[in-house]
Amino acid sequence: MKEYDRFLAHVREIDACTRIWKRLDFDRQCCAPKGGLACCGEDLAQIARRIHELRCAPEFLEAMEGCLGQGEQLTEMELRSVQYQYELYQREKNLSAEFAQELSRITGAAFDGWVQAREENHYAVFAPCLKRVIEAFRQSAANRDKKYAHIYDACLSDFERGSTVEQMDAFFGELKEKLAPILKEGKPAKTPEPLFRAEVPVEAQKKLSLRLLEAEGLCMEKTSLVETKHPFTQLMSRNDVRVTTRFYRENFVSNLYTILHEGGHAVHYTNLPEEFYTNGMTAAPTFGMQECISRFYENVIGRSRAFCQWVVPLIREYFPGEAGRITPDQLFSYVNAPRREPIRMQADEASYCMHILIRYELEKGFMSGEIPVEEIPALWNKKYEQYLGIWVSNDNEGVLQDVHWADSIGYFPSYALGTVAAAQVYYRMNEDFPVYEAVERGQLYRVKEWLVSHAFDGNMAGDFFTWIRKVTGRELSVDYFVAYLKEKL
Ligand SMILES: [Zn+2]
Repeated sequence: MKEYDRFLAHVREIDACTRIWKRLDFDRQCCAPKGGLACCGEDLAQIARRIHELRCAPEFLEAMEGCLGQGEQLTEMELRSVQYQYELYQREKNLSAEFAQELSRITGAAFDGWVQAREENHYAVFAPCLKRVIEAFRQSAANRDKKYAHIYDACLSDFERGSTVEQMDAFFGELKEKLAPILKEGKPAKTPEPLFRAEVPVEAQKKLSLRLLEAEGLCMEKTSLVETKHPFTQLMSRNDVRVTTRFYRENFVSNLYTILHEGGHAVHYTNLPEEFYTNGMTAAPTFGMQECISRFYENVIGRSRAFCQWVVPLIREYFPGEAGRITPDQLFSYVNAPRREPIRMQADEASYCMHILIRYELEKGFMSGEIPVEEIPALWNKKYEQYLGIWVSNDNEGVLQDVHWADSIGYFPSYALGTVAAAQVYYRMNEDFPVYEAVERGQLYRVKEWLVSHAFDGNMAGDFFTWIRKVTGRELSVDYFVAYLKEKL
């Protein structure tokens, strides 16, 4: 048997276990009753241990080294797939299977702790869980062969290949400086709020959501839509992608934009290079790439005048009551109104990245030990006041609003990278066809076609900055994002 075939056989086993893990996690996040959460957590921990054992198995290492070192003739894509698995192996090779299992228990308990803390609107309930998560991540980073200048570099590079604090400090520094005048200028506009608070039954919202997912180019035989507390999208297999959302009867707009965003993740997952589905690389693209696609659909498309023109007739069709009386102009000004809100998911486009900057600074601080866990809420609130002029009045609208810290540290910067890059992708796409003319006609499939042919290729296995350069022909630049925001203002 060729080394590469041996490698692939092993990858298939890891992939199968990963899918089992995802199904259990989906069950935990979307349907398990509160009483079942602990058992879900224990099952997930067992599978996490098994995945770790497979990843670090001597025969798998032998196959990888055989492919990498013995000069076996591999295609470029084959080589990339081996390098990617080797990268994952390097992260875990010095950790024990017990540690992998324990880490999963810790993050599982933190998820439950977060749910409980949200119910009580009390950070102190979550704090001990977060402390254990941070300690486990520190231990994991310290055990790698690679020595990092900053311990938080390990967290960043798990989501953005090769990313460092130095690089992110520079990125956020520039972003903060260039956004300052825009944030100063934006004044809350007068929007016809009552119309947007009209009650819309969940069933009607669900029907429109499916219509939007279809418009984004998703095949509904391969896509399902389920309700959850903290929306996410999961790729189970090539023909099975699960989109989740949250419906509010008195705020139908919230779900519209969640659907556009999560639908973007589903577009990404179902249009990866063909080989990725069999060579273990579906998770190889960095999260900045993924968020770039999602934020593109949510913002560049969703908050455009063209989209509002197209979607309002649909809103009228699906919501014949009061909500159906809105006009495209009203929707456009509502979703683009400057909003200085404590909740990240409700932020306007201009201030969104400041929400991310706050999380970035806190993660960097608590990973290095400079910020004790007990002090996070006070610092969180202080930064909101300082950077955004927002007074946070309780933990749920402050430090407890995101679930991320229950099991991932270092993800947030990917949102900012993706947001900035989405504007750059827009200008490049517009060179090829008038994007908004197509959107106004409801031809969202043209957007998908462009993305598939320009952005979804083998380069997705590399780092974010190289990928965006290859897609747009230019280095990542904050200037596109600033120009995009100014055009809107
Ligand atoms: Zn996302």
